[in-house]
Amino acid sequence: LRKLVVVTGASSGLGRECARALCNNGNYFVVMAVRDVEKGKAVAKKYKFPDNSYTVMKLELASLQSVRDFVANLKAFKSARPLTHLVCNAAVYLPKDPKPSWTDDGYEMSMGVNHLGHFLLTQLLIPDMQKAKGARCIIVGSITGNTNTVGGGLVYPKADLGLLKGMEQGAQKPIAMMDGKKYDGAKAYKDSKVMNMMTVSELHRRYHKKTGVTFSSMYPGCIAETQLFREKRQWFRKIFPLFMKYVTGGYVGEEEAGERLAQVVDDPICAKSGVYWSWNGGAQTVGRYDASGKPKGAGGAGGEIFENQQSDAVQDRETAKKVFDLSCKLAGLK
Ligand code: NDP
Repeated sequence: LRKLVVVTGASSGLGRECARALCNNGNYFVVMAVRDVEKGKAVAKKYKFPDNSYTVMKLELASLQSVRDFVANLKAFKSARPLTHLVCNAAVYLPKDPKPSWTDDGYEMSMGVNHLGHFLLTQLLIPDMQKAKGARCIIVGSITGNTNTVGGGLVYPKADLGLLKGMEQGAQKPIAMMDGKKYDGAKAYKDSKVMNMMTVSELHRRYHKKTGVTFSSMYPGCIAETQLFREKRQWFRKIFPLFMKYVTGGYVGEEEAGERLAQVVDDPICAKSGVYWSWNGGAQTVGRYDASGKPKGAGGAGGEIFENQQSDAVQDRETAKKVFDLSCKLAGLK
């Protein structure tokens, strides 16, 4: 029987390629957790996900009710089969919006979707996952939330949760930023990624020993071609991949990035909990699939996986604990 894995945002970019790699691997049955079910189905068809290796289910992360509904639907669907893997991948990046947009529950969109929706999802699914042997919960991180790297530290604005004044005050409209300061879309994204990585560390500290579940975050490399940059101008979307490829060396293609995320799901090395996985350079430039969508099989050297260092901001235990406790409250858990 294939192992059951949930991938959020499986209808685009990294999530789609991770789902494709897992479907093709043969050992996994993928639940594509997407906001647009028709799009999810069309993507699975277009990219030739093998029949009987996936299903598509509605998950709107900008609604806590939708997260709860998804969990109920998943339980009904999977019957006795335990959930072994949860991949929290979906995200929005809204650097150009001058004004915040809000989730159904009145939270700023990037924090609500990237962090809070996934936070509730993990809290609701861990009790079930602990029944499985070797269960893994992965939340995609980013160097943009990592202030000790060029991408995260030098490019302004920086991630900075401050004293969490906004979060303490309930983080609801009109309070957009977790530090309680003025709205900045690019910073809201970075803050949400820091919270993603803090959540993994805190989940590891609180639940790993108790439940046996492995908690990981990862940075796939810069996948300059995904829809994440949809708000950016056309010239940026042309130049940015080239810049990442030839200047910073941090570029990785969508397919290989997806395989990296799938590696964190599948590789025995990644059974270690509490790790922030990254890959050194050496990404491949050739495609992994032929014109008909069939996998060509791995060829040539790709980047090497390693346990990366979290930034000081992510390692701040006191803030991580506070973020976790306040997130429980905002997600309606306490
Ligand atoms: P994409 O924009 O291509 O994919 C994001 C996915 O999230 C899409 O499938 C989108 O759905 C889904 N999504 C957005 N909003 C919601 C919502 N409200 N509810 C449910 N699903 C939603 O971006 P990427 O593939 O690049 O991003 C994937 C992850 O990788 C993110 O966590 C991002 O932070 C991370 N990342 C990306 C990097 C990059 O260079 N691209 C670098 C580092 C990290 P839909 O298909 O309907 O649009």
